[in-house]
Amino acid sequence: MESIRLYDRALARLSRRELLNVAWALGITAIAQPITARFAWAKPVFSSYPFTLGVASGDPLPGGVVLWTRLAPDPLNGGGMPMAAVEVGWEVAADSGFGTIVQTGTALARPELGHSVHVELNGLEAGREYWYRFRAGDEISQTGRTRTAPAMGAAVEEIRFGVCGCNHYETGYFTAFRRIAEENFDFVFHTGDYIYEGRDDGGRNDRLREHQGQEIYTIVDYRNRYAQYKSDADFKAAHASSPFIVSWDDHEVENNYAGDIDENDTPPAVFALRRAAAYQAWYESMPVRVSQMPVGAHLNMYRRMIFGDLLDFNVLDTRQYRSNQACGDGSRTDCAEALDPARTMLGNEQERWLFDNLATARSRWTILGQQVPIFTRDFSASAPNGQFSMDKWDGYVAARNRLSNRLIETGAPNPVAFSGDVHLAYGADLKMDYADPDSRTIGVEFTNTSVTSNGDGTDVAGNWEQIKGDNPHIKYHSARRGYIAVTATQATLQADFKILDKVTVPGLPTTLGGSLTAEAGAPGAQAT
Ligand code: FE
Ligand code: CA
Repeated sequence: MESIRLYDRALARLSRRELLNVAWALGITAIAQPITARFAWAKPVFSSYPFTLGVASGDPLPGGVVLWTRLAPDPLNGGGMPMAAVEVGWEVAADSGFGTIVQTGTALARPELGHSVHVELNGLEAGREYWYRFRAGDEISQTGRTRTAPAMGAAVEEIRFGVCGCNHYETGYFTAFRRIAEENFDFVFHTGDYIYEGRDDGGRNDRLREHQGQEIYTIVDYRNRYAQYKSDADFKAAHASSPFIVSWDDHEVENNYAGDIDENDTPPAVFALRRAAAYQAWYESMPVRVSQMPVGAHLNMYRRMIFGDLLDFNVLDTRQYRSNQACGDGSRTDCAEALDPARTMLGNEQERWLFDNLATARSRWTILGQQVPIFTRDFSASAPNGQFSMDKWDGYVAARNRLSNRLIETGAPNPVAFSGDVHLAYGADLKMDYADPDSRTIGVEFTNTSVTSNGDGTDVAGNWEQIKGDNPHIKYHSARRGYIAVTATQATLQADFKILDKVTVPGLPTTLGGSLTAEAGAPGAQAT
């Protein structure tokens, strides 16, 4: 009794902010915020630590980011949560020691969404760092660092961001994510293939770790697969280090799917059930806004974020609305279907949305953050496999021409595209006509290699010496694993290709494989 009274007196001397801190440490959410739902389970006892998947933030706006976590005491077996809504407290601080709490609140982790939470912050200061953490019951999560976007139109000197993708769990250690965590980027753009859906599909010889279970089809399968990836300590460190702007490619659902068509001739209405499960698990696992919540087998992934007067970032979706790959997919030569103007990569609605954005782009750099390479990769020297890959924009030539023409006609400032998917790094010029090296250069494209997919890799792809003469627009190439570190200023945008000697050996440092720089006002990439 006495100790309680002493405790009360001590509390009475504290400011409200300090009080919130004490309340947090003691797990007293009632002081911080009234309990918001009548049926929430506010004081759960977990079978084991519930924050096994770490924390993440994403989609920075000037006033806030999205905070994410998912409660999963038994992450690889459906999560291990009781089938009830559970209250999760969150707090945002101005310092890593949580000395100055700037916002606090609660969210409900609901069973329908795999006990994930998505907290959309508002009212933060633009262009600065914050730290955040969650609490559920008596358990406190890891701390994440995040950063808001600069104010709309504000003069911004420099933004540094990472670009990465294709992290196959079976084929290597996620060392690149550890190195990304050390970069303290303003944000990280993920080009997709965040999970791989198969079983033992990383190549038997270089399989280093094993996917749990078989190929995934149901919502629980997809949840478990995301959980297996997100349990990786290096991956958790990357998410805790910076806000992510995530996109997706094919393997978040199924290899090379196109719209509602999979690669196994499954009836589209049946494949839609699988796609709905995959999209829901993606939403549950990603730091994205509620506006990205799926509706049936659809999820509005494409979105735009503006970073002061420096970056106009369009995140594109090149999977959900595309026409089926021409000529049966694979690599083809003389595929007339690939030229058909009726074919689409973005779908009509997204294409119109992007084309409108390009007309209103006012930042120094107009960014197309997407998945499959836009620039041509002409493999004619190594045919008969086929000259062009039908899964990339090379299989959607008319759609690419529409995009090129729109970039020119709108004068969108300094276009820079990013892509992934091919497990090879490239830096290339975007050209009006890839068959004519003298044709107009529109901008640049940087393709990140994989974090792990295809294993250790080699300095260059086996056919590189043959194909580079046919692709003079390609200025850099590597077949090692890693990521891109991008530094954007008003004058230049520099891509540093950071590569790893091996991903089958943990903990290696990165080296600089090469750097390309784009100069504002002078389209094209130069070696630095
Ligand atoms: Fe991939
Ligand atoms: Ca892919």
